[in-house]
Amino acid sequence: MDAKDRLRRYLEQRREMGESEFALDTMSIEDAMKVIGSGKASGASPMRPLGGAAADAPVARPLPTEPVERAAPAETSDWREALRATGAKPAGADAAPRAEQPPATPLDPADLPPGLVVAKPAAPGVTDIDTVPSLDVIADMVRRCTRCPLHQTAIQGVPGEGNPNARFVVVGEAPGATEDETGRPFVGAAGQLLTKILAAINLRREDVFICNVIKHRPPGNRNPLPNEIAACSPYLIRQLELIGPGVILALGTFAAQTLLETKESIGKLRGRVHRYHGIPLIVTYHPAALLRNPAWKRPTWDDVQLARRILDSSPDDRA
Ligand code: URA
Repeated sequence: MDAKDRLRRYLEQRREMGESEFALDTMSIEDAMKVIGSGKASGASPMRPLGGAAADAPVARPLPTEPVERAAPAETSDWREALRATGAKPAGADAAPRAEQPPATPLDPADLPPGLVVAKPAAPGVTDIDTVPSLDVIADMVRRCTRCPLHQTAIQGVPGEGNPNARFVVVGEAPGATEDETGRPFVGAAGQLLTKILAAINLRREDVFICNVIKHRPPGNRNPLPNEIAACSPYLIRQLELIGPGVILALGTFAAQTLLETKESIGKLRGRVHRYHGIPLIVTYHPAALLRNPAWKRPTWDDVQLARRILDSSPDDRA
């Protein structure tokens, strides 16, 4: 893939994340301008995200539901104009199918800031869930579960869904209203954003496994209580054990703190490679938080790219 294709792919991914402005991470502006055929790169202001913020600072951007249409810039020296002139198009127009795109650069997790380590228990588990033979059986158990009071207020259990052999598992907090109605995880507004985030790292929902720490909706989406977490956690632990993914992506404070058995803030947990029962675990913001605070999209993008690179670097021991 040449530099122009890389740049185009990068822009497509940013667009799928809902971005309308961007900052180049791995290529200098001068280089990018040369690649896209514009000689006039200097004059800093057009290169900065809207609002005049520093190029690498999180910047408030439009909500990610609809790409923002912009009026054509007046001067052809504007980098956006130059970019359009290269034929950079939105994803899907005539872009190559995502599956054919090469993965992001692999990396060695050992080169990254070390994270917390949650060791696998030495002794075998003690609940009837610890020896469940398959994800389907877990799903049946979740749907019939009465281990905590949440089943009394929820419509149904939401066990999780996806590829039982997934190499990438996403863990959220608990079902919301739409998930409770449908029995499927991450299908509401936050779920739609999650689907876009996954697509931006070339993963389809059906490639991954998506689940939550808590399998029944807490009333009014309140935070789960300690007894609910204790009752429900064995399902998630067994799901992760059965799947044996190459990477776990923990969405939001609650999933991260529960899996990593810590009270550290998400700001401290991000950007590190943790280990959960030997599996690399990356923490990022919850998509629902991104809907409220678009400035977190930029760090989220960094996090999911990191997760993707770890995935690409991790051998599939089950092959
Ligand atoms: N938020 C979550 O944490 N999980 C869902 O399934 C939906 C919203």
